[in-house]
Amino acid sequence: MTLLLAAQAAELNRDERATGIYYTKMTEKPETRLLGLRGLVNQAKRNNEYQKALELALQADQEKPGTDWVLKELFDLSLQLKDFDGALKYLERSGKGKAAKDPARLHLKAILEYERAIRRLDASDVQQAQALLQRAHDLDPDFVPATAKLISLSDDGRRREKLISAAWRQTPHPDVALAIKRLVPVESEADWYARAKKLFLSTNPDHRESLIELAKAALAAREWGDARKYLNALLESDPSVSVYRLLADLEEKANADAAAARNWIQKIPEAKADPEWHCDHCGRIQRKWTSRCGSCNSFDSFEWKSTDVDLEDQLIEAQVVKELTGN
Ligand SMILES: [Zn+2]
Repeated sequence: MTLLLAAQAAELNRDERATGIYYTKMTEKPETRLLGLRGLVNQAKRNNEYQKALELALQADQEKPGTDWVLKELFDLSLQLKDFDGALKYLERSGKGKAAKDPARLHLKAILEYERAIRRLDASDVQQAQALLQRAHDLDPDFVPATAKLISLSDDGRRREKLISAAWRQTPHPDVALAIKRLVPVESEADWYARAKKLFLSTNPDHRESLIELAKAALAAREWGDARKYLNALLESDPSVSVYRLLADLEEKANADAAAARNWIQKIPEAKADPEWHCDHCGRIQRKWTSRCGSCNSFDSFEWKSTDVDLEDQLIEAQVVKELTGN
């Protein structure tokens, strides 16, 4: 007890040397060993010594296997060290029974399987990567990066057709559309438009991503009437920046009408932003999803959304506060 108080006092005074001495002393007695190790793990993390922290946490795991904080540290530290096999192992050990079915946990596992798959791909082990991506997709069918990657690696055949249809029904997303498009490497614009029309209209005809992808494909295939039809539908339901940009494109290409194109372009500054990957912690925006944020280092912080949704939320929040406080 005296040692713990002394260690905590040293910690408060930011005396790292004394902190280390007191916690190390605590590890020498069986009854305070775990507490001492916990103090040393925290100290190593403060100093960004993640490998050392992991080794200390492993000692704690040996001392008393299955301790909650130890498993959580082992999970976080493995993630920090990009050891996704290890992270998955500790995640599985920490959630047994009912907890194992928790959607947030399944989502985390899907990310870990995805990262493991990417490493298998880097090692040219496509087969193992496919298996891991399939597992990630099954764990969380809403997790777009795994779905898109799984599609891009899928072999031609009925299984692929099923995967693609289900994916577009579940997660219509530009990355999924791109993966589907690239399955046929050499294809005329007309052929892609025919393929897109068949798939998107049969699975998710009214979704904004279906309409956007179809408008783009129709424009490229010079099907002006069709392109206008999709864009008009989007103007009604969900007019975002890319809708106005595509309308301007259409006026220029179909009618060489620069004035009409300019009219649409002028609406862009006021238009709703298109969805992108947003970090929930720091607001960083990325075109491509990553498991860790390059700005704030948060794990699993990216959400696919449009900035304006946030603005709207803030406005609603402000309104609620106003009503509650009567100001
Ligand atoms: Zn961030």
